Amino acid sequence: MLKSSLDFAKKPEKYFVKLNKNIHLNNINCDIGLLKKAYYFSFDRHLNQVRESGEPFASHPYAVANILINLKLDYQSIITALLHDTIEDGVATNDEIKKYFGLEINELVEGVTKLSKIQLPNTELREASNFSKFILAICKDIRILIIKLADRLHNMRTLNFIKEESRKYKIAKETLEVYAPLAGRVGFQIMREELEELAFKVTNKQAFQSINKRILFLRKQNSDFISRNILNLKNIINPKYVKEITGREKKAYSTWKKMLKKSIALEKVSDIYAFRIITHTKSDCYKVLGIIHTKWPMIPDRFKDFISTPKPNGYQSIHTTVIGKDGIKMELQIKTKKMHQLAEYGVASHWIYKDEINEKKVKEINKGTKWFQDVLDIIKSADDPKELIEYSRMNMYTDNVFCFTPKGDVISLPKGATALDFAYAVHTNIGNNTIGSKINGKLAPLDHSIKNGDQIEIIRSNGKHPQKSWLNFCKTGKAKSQIKRFLRDYEEIEFEKLGKEILTKILLDINKKATKKTLKILIDGFNYDSYRSFYIAIGKAQISSDSILELLQYGNKQKNFAIKSKKRNLPILGVTNKMPIKLAECCTPLLGENIVGILVEGKGIYVHLLSCSTLERFSDYPELWYELTWDNKNIGNLSQLSKISIILQNKVGALHKVTSCIKKANINIVDLNISKRSQDFFNIDINLKVNDLKHLDQLMLSLKLEETIYKIKRC
Ligand code: MN
Repeated sequence: MLKSSLDFAKKPEKYFVKLNKNIHLNNINCDIGLLKKAYYFSFDRHLNQVRESGEPFASHPYAVANILINLKLDYQSIITALLHDTIEDGVATNDEIKKYFGLEINELVEGVTKLSKIQLPNTELREASNFSKFILAICKDIRILIIKLADRLHNMRTLNFIKEESRKYKIAKETLEVYAPLAGRVGFQIMREELEELAFKVTNKQAFQSINKRILFLRKQNSDFISRNILNLKNIINPKYVKEITGREKKAYSTWKKMLKKSIALEKVSDIYAFRIITHTKSDCYKVLGIIHTKWPMIPDRFKDFISTPKPNGYQSIHTTVIGKDGIKMELQIKTKKMHQLAEYGVASHWIYKDEINEKKVKEINKGTKWFQDVLDIIKSADDPKELIEYSRMNMYTDNVFCFTPKGDVISLPKGATALDFAYAVHTNIGNNTIGSKINGKLAPLDHSIKNGDQIEIIRSNGKHPQKSWLNFCKTGKAKSQIKRFLRDYEEIEFEKLGKEILTKILLDINKKATKKTLKILIDGFNYDSYRSFYIAIGKAQISSDSILELLQYGNKQKNFAIKSKKRNLPILGVTNKMPIKLAECCTPLLGENIVGILVEGKGIYVHLLSCSTLERFSDYPELWYELTWDNKNIGNLSQLSKISIILQNKVGALHKVTSCIKKANINIVDLNISKRSQDFFNIDINLKVNDLKHLDQLMLSLKLEETIYKIKRC
């Protein structure tokens, strides 16, 4: 235990004075009475708690508050820092915080508490970026994120006290993958670096040590490299252009990242020195650059001008790498003071530095809105344009909830989604077999609305299946369409079973059995293309027992059973009103295939194959879906358009064989195109008129037997 922490426990007054002094030093406008109340509240409530280091717990919120003071945050944030662990540790309630510190601070404390409950799931790095978005989505106020970052920074500074290695590793990994990048994104570069170094030391101890050893070696080789080269720079640059020149060694983690990115070996790492030249004006930056480039050779692909083209987050600077006087590479950043402040403190810098603050800005700061809006804008922007688009969509995330699978994968669902939607979002089969759910370890009904951060486990049973009532409470299109699809299929299976039973009974009554011969007479007589559709029709009472008996009695020459369709062009059931029906051109479904209808406003219903990929576009609009079946009774002399594509060997007579095959099958060719021709093969696309799927399948089969055909498919 540190001596000072004992002191802290015994003399809280002394440490409050220190806190107050720090606030004054940083020119923070503060309600000291409220601060004092928060300080003692935190001290009292955490009195019996100790950290793993053995220090009194209250020293932690105290340290976090000081980090925020040094970042010059507002006093509400500083007070929140003092209180940030009281709710989570159960030593205070939200009602108390509200009562003593007001609504705003209570909201901040609540936000930080919520964030603290969330941990990075054990998944791959690509999930980490999703996780960062999730964190941003639940931070209603950017101060919540900054307080959380400060909290994490102090926890990282004291990480070595945690004894359990796996926990230590998990915290470090989360810091490296989520919190350090977030700190960078809000513009806190110094904090980002510190978080990275502290975390890297734990996640990859060996690399951390070897790189530091190398840095130490290089430092020894050039003991006064930095001071010598600051002098060298000062000698060549006219002092009137320059405000300040500083130099530093690069950090282990950034060196490591560079090694990975450029796959260079550690022995090759040499440019560990970076210099910063701060100028008065923008044009001075270019003057300084000119001088340096004429004196020292530059490395061409390392020159970047972020002044004329700033990074999307507003970062401005000139970067260049030169071979200095000693023949050693040195990295240089040239920028104005203002640009530097922006890089170090983010947009906060506009407000932090007194010389730039006018009264109007002070008002805005006090309102506490503009400042945070600006920081939010920065968060929204990112280096990668793809990412930029994603972040500009960040508003959308507030309409989403993010939850976790038991394995820790992040699933995003629309607000108001239920546990059942979650099940279908994970997998259709999981949805179809769902019988219950556990949310955060507790049993919950399937219509339970999901909240951000919930961990959901779906309880399944293979024998169970979706219920019609589910449609009343699921929210996502995916769940709705999958449930509908299942119910439709399930219904058909039931009708098929029923139809089979009815037929057996009818036949039994006249002492017959369902032999192949009898069935063929029936199916041909009623003009069905499969046993299944025939049974379903009986089950649905579309074929009466009388008509079956009649047919068996008078033979299949009776034609009045197959009634020609007169009402509609397409023999399709499932639409009651007189809406026009068209076959979709993307999949051109054929009689006998599983179909579904999609309503297109003003045009009617388009019939697609159930397997058509176009349907995905409509998965979120279940109201447009129509359950359709072919009206097998009213087929008539239907002939349908179908497309096939063939890859054919480039041989004499090959095409002739194809066309005669089609002719033999009694099929008309509507048109035929040769789309591609090479030395050995050519592709042909053929539009055909066929009766139904069976008809087309027969043709495909006979074409497949042709040796000259390399490949054939329906399209
Ligand atoms: Mn904490």
